[in-house]
Amino acid sequence: MSNKWVYLFSEVDRAEKYIGGDWENLRGLLGGKGANLAEMTRLNVPVPPGFTITTEACNAFLTAGETFPEGMWDQVRQAVKDIEKQSAKKFGDPANPLLFSCRSGARFSMPGMMDTILNIGLNDQTAAGLLELTGNGHFVYDSFRRLIQMFGSVVMGIPDDVFEEKMTAYRSRAGVKTDAELTAADLKGLTQDFKQIFRRYTTLDFPADPYQQLKMATEAVFKSWNGKRAVDYRNASNIPHDLGTAVNIVTMVFGNLGDDSATGVALTRNGTTGENKIEGDYLINAQGEDVVAGIRQTNELSQLEQEMPDIYDEFVKTVKQLEAHYRDMQDVEFTVERGKLWMLQTRNGKRTAQAAVRIAVEMAEEKLIARQEAVLRVTPEQVDFFLHPQFEREAKSAAKANGTMLGTGLNVSPGAAVGMVAFDADIAEMWAKEEGKEVIMVRPETKPDDVHGMLAARGILTSRGGRTSHAALVARQFGKPAVVGLSALNIDIKKRLMRINNDIIREGDWISIDGTSGEVFGGRLETTMPDIMDPWLIKLLSWADSFRRIGVRTNADNPDDAALARNCGAEGIGLCRTEHMFFEPRRLPYLHKMIMTDLPIERRDALDALLPFQRDDFAGLFRAMDGLPVIARLIDPPLHEFLPDHMALTHDLTDLKIRLKHADTLEKVDALLQEINEKTRVLKRVETMRESNPMLGLRGVRLGIQIPELTTMQVRAIFEAACMVTKEGVEVHPEIMIPLTSHVNELKVQRDILEVEAKKVMREQSIEIDYKFGTMIEVPRAALTAHQLAEHADFFSFGTNDLTQTTFGMSRDDAESGFLMRYMRTGILPENPFTTIDRDGVGQLMAIAVEKARSVNPGLECGICGEHAGDPKSISLCHEIGLTYVSCSPYRIPVARLSAAQAALLDKKNPRGGAK
Ligand code: ADP
Ligand code: MG
Ligand code: MG
Repeated sequence: MSNKWVYLFSEVDRAEKYIGGDWENLRGLLGGKGANLAEMTRLNVPVPPGFTITTEACNAFLTAGETFPEGMWDQVRQAVKDIEKQSAKKFGDPANPLLFSCRSGARFSMPGMMDTILNIGLNDQTAAGLLELTGNGHFVYDSFRRLIQMFGSVVMGIPDDVFEEKMTAYRSRAGVKTDAELTAADLKGLTQDFKQIFRRYTTLDFPADPYQQLKMATEAVFKSWNGKRAVDYRNASNIPHDLGTAVNIVTMVFGNLGDDSATGVALTRNGTTGENKIEGDYLINAQGEDVVAGIRQTNELSQLEQEMPDIYDEFVKTVKQLEAHYRDMQDVEFTVERGKLWMLQTRNGKRTAQAAVRIAVEMAEEKLIARQEAVLRVTPEQVDFFLHPQFEREAKSAAKANGTMLGTGLNVSPGAAVGMVAFDADIAEMWAKEEGKEVIMVRPETKPDDVHGMLAARGILTSRGGRTSHAALVARQFGKPAVVGLSALNIDIKKRLMRINNDIIREGDWISIDGTSGEVFGGRLETTMPDIMDPWLIKLLSWADSFRRIGVRTNADNPDDAALARNCGAEGIGLCRTEHMFFEPRRLPYLHKMIMTDLPIERRDALDALLPFQRDDFAGLFRAMDGLPVIARLIDPPLHEFLPDHMALTHDLTDLKIRLKHADTLEKVDALLQEINEKTRVLKRVETMRESNPMLGLRGVRLGIQIPELTTMQVRAIFEAACMVTKEGVEVHPEIMIPLTSHVNELKVQRDILEVEAKKVMREQSIEIDYKFGTMIEVPRAALTAHQLAEHADFFSFGTNDLTQTTFGMSRDDAESGFLMRYMRTGILPENPFTTIDRDGVGQLMAIAVEKARSVNPGLECGICGEHAGDPKSISLCHEIGLTYVSCSPYRIPVARLSAAQAALLDKKNPRGGAK
């Protein structure tokens, strides 16, 4: 027996058996559209009879040099016979003609596949028969001319304009505006003219044989799988090229047979807000594509309740049944033919981020899906949406209405951005950095040399390039909203202006770009922050919390950030960078003094002056985090970062010396000399501290060992603050963290200093503070000797920014503004290792460290505080290697909570997805 290439919609059980029962595989065999038509048939939903030619047939056709596989066409003929029996009509029979639509449908819905052809089976004889049956010449010849037009353009590649021009000629001759107003005679004439066009362009007669029509349409669908548009789309969206497309042959039903007929589309819930309310559009006496094409003003679905109450009830019942069956919001097409409802398509509906969250939560509450599933259905990107500015809906509609919308390009990196146009990277950087302007960088396309401008800009717009262009890649890496490939955009660099259609925009003018939709507007559009207090989001994240096993903390250096993070669900501070506390103008002079002096007494004075500032900072953090752990990392960067820049100092000195030459009084000379001496001293100090590679120089724990008083002061500040707020009734859990350790002896030395001071403060204050002592793991040596470090630490925190730098031996700044983009574009590195943890290298070091450390110190708390901690893929890795928590910036916390839960729910080794 030859293969089965054709399945009637009613044969879904057989198809299912063949592929082993899995729904995804069924979609693979029959395509999404076909699988759903068959499934609806099985559910007794009214679907016009039809059949699907499988994707396997398509693949066989393509590999065999575009010939149908053996037995396929016989099976098609047999299927047509079966349908004739069901419908009591006959394909090609003038007495009661059966007509079909031919619809492509791959596993994933893809633009670029072949357009649907309606009314297959019409020729002069069947048209005459249909006229006899319906008495409706307008309907019959409108259907016929549509067939020739669709067949001509889609199968034979005749330009559609040629047909449209002809239609326009008929309309103007008849003096009417719409096709609907043409008479039956007009349409009959058009049909004849269309046949002529067909002959002129193809040197063939329009095929009168219905089977010939069906055959050519089927071949065309198969071939369209390898069409350029389809191939490009698959390349851009990573869809495999060997899936093939199915062909669906569906009995025609007509919504244009009079006022008891209609056609429409609907979503079972609101796709924008997620509200559980059917929304849709329909037209009385029309065909399917008229609703989408927007030729006529459509009616809101709710009106159908008055116009066709019985149909409306049946429809609502049907779509609710579909929703319950698929357990997701459905997007449906339907047609009413003379008072009878037919469903023509169903699929899971597209939705906004807000709607995705609300629908998932409400469906779980309706018990349609489990809470676990609700948590898995919302993507981290959708949660992220709540944390980025977006354009106000009204502002966008107003801009569209008053014509300030400029065009639509590819939406490659989401978010809204408003700024002044800058045509090159240097200007973008200068305006943004030196003048504090908001800038949108606009280029024909971007290159690695442009990265500094892209980083400084709010958003990026290009006229060329696609989803994988340099601009798109960089924008996504850095979270910049971007629209690329806006082909209507013409940049005249010499004149410093750009043209879009008839609009002229000059450098410095304001524009607004929407990276979520690809739309570009002139002027400044109002933005809003989506509501992170959205009640459905809050609920979803609370469910996520109950599934995740990994904690979520925040990186925060001040009480405001800490409070914000706590609102977002942070369970403590995983990283407070104490050096940020020194940068304030009031404090900097003391710091300078501390660095400049060689005298211990002067150093102590300077540190004593800094102490109260630090103490207050910590007290603020402790209060904000009442009851939760706070990790304070002791000072990390090399000290010279706090000193004035070497170049600036040399300039100043030259300046002063010239002024000295022209000084005319002794007082002036004295004053200038004193200034010169002071600056020279600073310069000397800067020079002695200058390192040729500060990244690998005197920083982290090395600094605290070089200047133990610095550690002592910081520890004192932490403990004094802890004692102070304890007296206020605040519950404190300080954790003191030593940065950049590479040898266990460094840790021992620091621990001794720390413990002496901590005890001293606690004795002075007569309060016992429950604290922890730990270290960051930021260099490979620390990871590899984690078992030694773990004997002297209560906790570890992976600083994956530095760990990535030291593991790869590359500095992030140099890499990202240099060779890294090329590495990613050419596939040397699949992803930016500073965005997503490099699993094989850095990830392996982390896993080794955790294992070794816990072998000697089983309960050891291991966290991560690098930027990676907010990246979903990295969070999944952290879950896998058993980290205690991730610590990320406040705005990433909701994403981290969801990602951590998803990692737990998808964890095959430990599938319970149970509580933390
Ligand atoms: P698309 O993927 O572009 O929506 P479809 O195959 O769903 O393509 O069909 C295009 C239009 O034709 C839709 O409005 C659909 O409802 C309508 N249509 C398709 N097949 C039939 C049919 N057998 N009878 C009536 N209308 C149909
Ligand atoms: Mg459709
Ligand atoms: Mg670090």
